[in-house]
Amino acid sequence: MQIKLKIDGRDASPNNAGNAVEDAILAKVKEQMTQKLSNLRCPDHNQAPKPEFEGDSLKNLRIQIRACCGWMREEAQRVLNQK
Ligand SMILES: [Zn+2]
Repeated sequence: MQIKLKIDGRDASPNNAGNAVEDAILAKVKEQMTQKLSNLRCPDHNQAPKPEFEGDSLKNLRIQIRACCGWMREEAQRVLNQK
């Protein structure tokens, strides 16, 4: 997964970010993913998928998608992989 964000007008990436910045990026990434998924809605079950995050840094971040069905989970994964 490619992660590129701007924080306070500076380019920040997991490769050049210090720990303090990394925490901010991590929070932002989680927020953006949660936001993206909340825009989705399963036509069959009328539910939005929810991400569950594991790991306390970008390097070991794992995302599990909680969805009502397999179709919604695939759709959520597709959306998260979009640029
Ligand atoms: Zn569903």
